[in-house]
Amino acid sequence: MKLTRFDIITVDIPMRQSVRHALAERNVARNILVAAHDEKGGIGWGECCPRPYVTGETIDSVKQDLTTTILPQLLGNELASFEAAADMLVPQLDSMARNQQAAFCAAELAVLDLAGNRFGTSAGMVLGPVQTPQVRYSGVIATDDIESVKQNAAFMAKFGVGDVKVKVGASLESNLEILTTARTILGDQVTLRIDANCAWSAAETIRQLTAMQSFSLTGVEQPVPGEDIDGMRAVTAAKLVPVVADESLCSLEDARTLIREQACDVFNVRISKCGGLINAGRIDQLAREAGLDCQLGAQVGEAGILSAAGRHYATRSQGVRWCEGSYGQLLLEEDITEPDITLGPGGIAPALDTHGIGVTPAPERLQRYEHARLTVSA
Ligand SMILES: [Mg+2]
Repeated sequence: MKLTRFDIITVDIPMRQSVRHALAERNVARNILVAAHDEKGGIGWGECCPRPYVTGETIDSVKQDLTTTILPQLLGNELASFEAAADMLVPQLDSMARNQQAAFCAAELAVLDLAGNRFGTSAGMVLGPVQTPQVRYSGVIATDDIESVKQNAAFMAKFGVGDVKVKVGASLESNLEILTTARTILGDQVTLRIDANCAWSAAETIRQLTAMQSFSLTGVEQPVPGEDIDGMRAVTAAKLVPVVADESLCSLEDARTLIREQACDVFNVRISKCGGLINAGRIDQLAREAGLDCQLGAQVGEAGILSAAGRHYATRSQGVRWCEGSYGQLLLEEDITEPDITLGPGGIAPALDTHGIGVTPAPERLQRYEHARLTVSA
């Protein structure tokens, strides 16, 4: 198999409702897809969601990194096996900066999908075999409008979701109102955790968590800014609620820093910001060795390719504490891939074990949402 051409396609997919947190509000998913082509007409697909406030990447920086560095180095490579494709990717992954993680992810997934299709194996095999036949996804409430909180919570209760993450903000009063509303509708059997998206200081985190004790929160995600490792350490040491690192965790180096500084209890592994499947596996491995847990996270607006990649990670890890993503048709007006792998009732979804990544864009839908296209060829 020879890598002969890559397409970089920007898509804009409208979302069913806008999603809001302390760092961003979004009602269109603008993602980048990469199509990898081989000499026999085979195609593999990758995806990323560049986020300036997570990895420092933008749509333009991802296009730039893909066209000038990442894809030219992959073009022309001849690969004799799926393992050879994975081996080719590792040195390049090691050379990526923190602000190139999403760009690399899109290229990596495309190559793994293509090689998996060609050599008859799942792209997930870079993480090893399936460990668990199905996983349970959490619901996420990301609004401070109480009517919307009520509607979201009612939908999740009816859908049978077992775990819910609630986005919180600066105001303790507003946060308590959101949590009270969610708890009242969801009942005591559903676990609640919060994500502050960097909104607080360490002292403010302890004040807010203390005031939230009656909700029996199972986690607090990224309470302080991503670069505030001292703050993360202080909140973790307080042991009020397990601390999840999200914006603080993108690269393998970030994972090592968080472990060394004892700055969290759980890693939020999102495939796009963490540089793809191979790096997700390496970050997961570091966490296990350090006695930390991992969760599968998602960028808001991920389409089916990233959902599938996340599914591979969650089902092939030794065990993730929570899963997010695979919201497909629940969040997007229309997902662009087939088959539909949107999570089912209760948030349950099965492992994927077909060749490649397991989903592919439907041509007419891709065309509908395509915003721009570039080609990189020899
Ligand atoms: Mg988060």
